[in-house]
Amino acid sequence: MTPAEKEVADLCVELIRVDSSNYGDGSGPGERAAAEVVMARLDEVGIEATYIESEPGRGNVITRVEGSDPSLPALLVHGHLDVVPANAADWSVDPFAGEVRDGYIWGRGAVDMKDMDAMMLALLRQLKREGRKPRRDLVFAWVADEEAGGVYGAKYLTAHHPELFEGVTEAISEVGGYSLEVDPSLRLYLIETAQKGLAWMKLIADGTAGHGSMLNSDNAVTEIARAVSRIGDHDWPLTYTPTVRTFLTEVADAFGIPFDENDPQPILDKIGPLVRFVGATLSNTTNPTQLTAGYKSNVIPGQAEAVVDGRFLPGFEDEFFKTIDTLLGPKVRREFVHHDIALETTFDGALVESMIAALKAEDPAARAIPYCMSGGTDNKTFFADLGVRGFGFVPLRLPVDMDFAAMFHGVDERVPVEALQFGVRVLDRLLLNY
Ligand SMILES: [Zn+2]
Repeated sequence: MTPAEKEVADLCVELIRVDSSNYGDGSGPGERAAAEVVMARLDEVGIEATYIESEPGRGNVITRVEGSDPSLPALLVHGHLDVVPANAADWSVDPFAGEVRDGYIWGRGAVDMKDMDAMMLALLRQLKREGRKPRRDLVFAWVADEEAGGVYGAKYLTAHHPELFEGVTEAISEVGGYSLEVDPSLRLYLIETAQKGLAWMKLIADGTAGHGSMLNSDNAVTEIARAVSRIGDHDWPLTYTPTVRTFLTEVADAFGIPFDENDPQPILDKIGPLVRFVGATLSNTTNPTQLTAGYKSNVIPGQAEAVVDGRFLPGFEDEFFKTIDTLLGPKVRREFVHHDIALETTFDGALVESMIAALKAEDPAARAIPYCMSGGTDNKTFFADLGVRGFGFVPLRLPVDMDFAAMFHGVDERVPVEALQFGVRVLDRLLLNY
């Protein structure tokens, strides 16, 4: 076992024990203590890193490993240090104890994403100790605030310290690279190459205020309710982006079933609980989430509001808003609560070839396939601000019965120790050879 394989679990446990819950309102402990663990472990082996606080307590750590070939563009490897909160009463273990049990490390952040944070750390320490050099510059970044939009992490760093990412053209980070076992001779590894865009929209209906006992043909509550049900009931058509089409074709092929464009459900049935990641990537979606209107039973308010969580496919943003505006009708307008881009990159090129080769070398049954995720990651910020092509690649060979998708923000989040060791080996091959 390599030194990185030996220590990756301990590093993951150490990071989980630091509560870096992000409540999204600034009330959490921040990422400073977790960043200090990273800094201390880097310092221990003589690696210099830059510590940046965007706000008091909101810690980010960045370090660059110089490559042997300065003509090659740099690769960014990033992980977030914050985690979503955990309600300890729901868990079978203390979510911040980092307990190791039955071959798993348990705790908040075990897969999202202190696993990768620890793999990055273990690998860097090993590189330094062994004096090995990658071919290209590698920029390692442990960032704050991903779980609340990256304002104090990726967004702050790209806006205020773009020089740290000089020469970076590609990135790898969370939610991809994990295995789906078809049979013992074939494991699909899902590499994330696309993400849906996000439109949290506030809908506003203006009407005529008045007494509830009188006739009123301009009722804002009625108007907002109509718009909300039109949007909530809308049947978004099946739409296959290049990534989703490739994904479904590959899964169908792996399981030996046909890909019927009119009925993709049999393919989705084959991927089990992972459908949580991809089930919503076959169309745009709109889910009404909030309603606000009125203050008294017999007073018709002059205004009523609702919030809709809209998610659009890469390449279909204009079409999405055109449909939304038709559904809103003439009496309801919309504003953005939050708006973020969709991403899609092609599943080709030297980095993809290197990921495939690294997986194959450690798992001869590996077949890598691209997929689109319905949520988003910090890769969006790095793309929007620096034009970096991002992939979800945290290599984990998972047990066949593990419900991996349920681990994300879930109760009893955990990661197999062996999967971390596998990940370190794959990343070692990828980062050193690419
Ligand atoms: Zn995450």
